[in-house]
Amino acid sequence: MTLHDQTRKANTSKAGSGDSGQIASRLLGWYDAHHRDLPWRIAPREFARGARPDPYRVWLSEVMLQQTTVEAVKSYFRTFVGKWPDVEALAAASTEDVMKAWAGLGYYSRARNLKACADLVARQGGRFPDTEAGLKELPGIGAYTAAAIVAIAFDHPAAVVDGNVERVVSRLFSIATPLSEAKTEIRAHVERMVPAQRPGDFAQAMMDLGATICTPRRPRCMLCPLREDCSATVSGDPERFPVRLPKGEKPLRRGAAFVAVRGDGAILLRKRADKGLLGGMTEVPTTGWTARIDGATTEATAPFPGDWRPAGRIGHVFTHFALELDVFKTVTEVAAPAGHFWSLAHEISGEALPTVMKKVIEAAIPGATKARRV
Ligand code: SF4
Repeated sequence: MTLHDQTRKANTSKAGSGDSGQIASRLLGWYDAHHRDLPWRIAPREFARGARPDPYRVWLSEVMLQQTTVEAVKSYFRTFVGKWPDVEALAAASTEDVMKAWAGLGYYSRARNLKACADLVARQGGRFPDTEAGLKELPGIGAYTAAAIVAIAFDHPAAVVDGNVERVVSRLFSIATPLSEAKTEIRAHVERMVPAQRPGDFAQAMMDLGATICTPRRPRCMLCPLREDCSATVSGDPERFPVRLPKGEKPLRRGAAFVAVRGDGAILLRKRADKGLLGGMTEVPTTGWTARIDGATTEATAPFPGDWRPAGRIGHVFTHFALELDVFKTVTEVAAPAGHFWSLAHEISGEALPTVMKKVIEAAIPGATKARRV
């Protein structure tokens, strides 16, 4: 039986409706005692006394929280509700003032959509729709934000699944399917767990659990209200979940590199610019490193005319791209061109040559970069 099959079997037995109810109940009990106090949130005690969230504040906070941390959002949220306490006030503001108040929060298309959404809601009577379908019709509101507003602002059952929730659920059920392919499975688990009572608090409790206890690194399982329900913590390695596919292939850049060697074994080098990739390191002359595969990778682009012969091709992988360099070699006695210098054979190993340049030189002159004594 594969891990996937084992997991599926375990999930089928663990994720019954009884367990789901128990999970919601434990989570809500924990939330009552340990919820985060956030300026847009109605605390459970106030909720129990009949206080209800303002959909405008919930919407504003959820838009601000897209791609931004809670800590960064707090002061912006206070500024916005101070200046524009309701959706009509925001609609009456100028776009320029809204953009100014948003400055520094990033992803500025959100601010433009925020204003457009406020204008539309105000024109339609000032009330936000209370369904996911209705909310998704508005500018800047996608599936996640719509579900969050429906649950938090209107206390309607909705599967609110952000990155925190994906992590918690992947661990609860030891989901072995890579995260990118497990979205439907995770959503189904969440849908089963959402309780009929307090679905809004349940959504916020899941968010808080993921943010404060079931963190990406070193989850604090001993403090977790769901540890008895969690299959990943039993395995002893909850950080294994969610499972991620290996990163996709990196873009490929190409170029040509030129190894000029003198009769005495000296090699022509130059220093790279101080800033940027491999800043201040030493290299042989090369063309630019681009996505092109044309004349830029031939001996025709050599730093000076000569009898340049192909000496192979090397590959190297940087953080953000892979590089292929066609290597050319010539034996010459020319004076070093401006910005270049001859490095004597016994000095090559002491030069600040990055690995990629050592590969280039070794392709043309095997053993040239190894330490030599005079
Ligand atoms: S027991 Fe640990 S891994 Fe499981 S949900 Fe809680 S914090 Fe996350």
